[in-house]
Amino acid sequence: MTTLNGKTALVTGSTSGIGLGIAQVLARAGANLVLNGFGDTEAAIAAIEATGAAVIHHPADMRRPDEIEAMFAMARQRFGAVDVLVNNAGIQHVAPIESFDTRTWDDILAINLSSGFHTTRQALPGMRARNWGRIINIASVHGLVGSAGKSAYVAAKHGLVGLTKVTALETARTGVTCNAICPGFVLTPLVQRQIDDLAAREGLSADDARARLLGEKQPSGRFVTPAELGNLALMLCSPEAAEVRGATWVADGGWTAQ
Ligand code: NAD
Repeated sequence: MTTLNGKTALVTGSTSGIGLGIAQVLARAGANLVLNGFGDTEAAIAAIEATGAAVIHHPADMRRPDEIEAMFAMARQRFGAVDVLVNNAGIQHVAPIESFDTRTWDDILAINLSSGFHTTRQALPGMRARNWGRIINIASVHGLVGSAGKSAYVAAKHGLVGLTKVTALETARTGVTCNAICPGFVLTPLVQRQIDDLAAREGLSADDARARLLGEKQPSGRFVTPAELGNLALMLCSPEAAEVRGATWVADGGWTAQ
């Protein structure tokens, strides 16, 4: 059982969905937690406190490098270091390229891709100094393959996979590793919105829309869970994963095996 006692994990976009699920697994393994994200922050803090872990929340907007810097300053002040960085914050928008809102394109690139560059810059000096660190980028199957209607998301996630490889190469001679986890569909608010849109567009029940969405892409026919992804992240934090570098670990119910 991997222990993270005495270590601090910062998970971006961890007030909901996958980020919160990962934060809970890392907290149960003993890490102090720095949460980030919007919405019901009190519920997210309570979920981490329930594990017994020390936790703080910073509301940095991942579009703002100055706010990301302030979040790291707060994390260092409270816990002394950031040992595990999980770049998870992300948004989705589905529309054909010709009608894709250009501000939404900029937001998706900023949140889903550029924030990972800004956080990694902040995290690396301390990780190098301690010669230990784990950077885990939550990419997607859309970091490996495309889907119509998801231009910004697919471009950003392919970019995040590229950033993962370069970070892994620049740290290859150190105790710092960087890897990407590439989930298929996980039933979170981000995917629920796609199910609701499909149900409204095609006149389907919620159950039928869910089955249709999965059926089109995910051979297992079931959603990946945040807890499964949290345990994959914990595995990447283990001593046995010390030489897993620059990998893209799919958890996609067979999506990319097709
Ligand atoms: P979610 O909507 O449940 O959670 C997104 C989180 O990001 C929330 O905490 C939200 O507050 C935060 N966030 C949004 N904009 C932000 C901003 N500007 N600054 C800071 N935080 C911000 O979504 P999710 O499904 O849990 O997605 C999490 C990550 O997993 C995303 O990067 C997403 O692309 C990726 N992913 C999701 C799926 C899926 O099927 N749900 C599949 C593959 C990859």
